[in-house]
Amino acid sequence: MIWLTLKIKIFFWLALLNRLQTRDNLFKKGWIADRACAICHNAMETTVHLLTACPLAYNIWDGLTQPGITIAMKDDLGIFWLHNRQSLQMAYNGNWDSAWMAGMRNIWKARCRLIFEGTTINDNDIIRKTMQDASAWIAIC
Ligand SMILES: [Zn+2]
Repeated sequence: MIWLTLKIKIFFWLALLNRLQTRDNLFKKGWIADRACAICHNAMETTVHLLTACPLAYNIWDGLTQPGITIAMKDDLGIFWLHNRQSLQMAYNGNWDSAWMAGMRNIWKARCRLIFEGTTINDNDIIRKTMQDASAWIAIC
């Protein structure tokens, strides 16, 4: 069990339902003309791409795992979580759930800062922040 604020719970609910305001979802509403990923520009910015398959996301998940463990990419966030949960439990003292949630939230926040503030994305900063958040969420429980 982990502790999460209502804001974070809503973020995950929106992510799992593919309701985040990704460029693909904004394109489908007719609000923007370009659905390319704001980070890599090499794929449509869907929720799954942004949070799992984008090179930034891959680097974050790879950086959060122990050497020799490979994150399996999936086309569904729920399946991504379940599939990787078993192999990654050991890396987080049994709490992949908090690392997964913190990682997704921090990838999303970095993407938003890039778009709205022009802030450069630093993979190591996201990994460090994710580990801090995951530990804090576990400690509160
Ligand atoms: Zn991308």
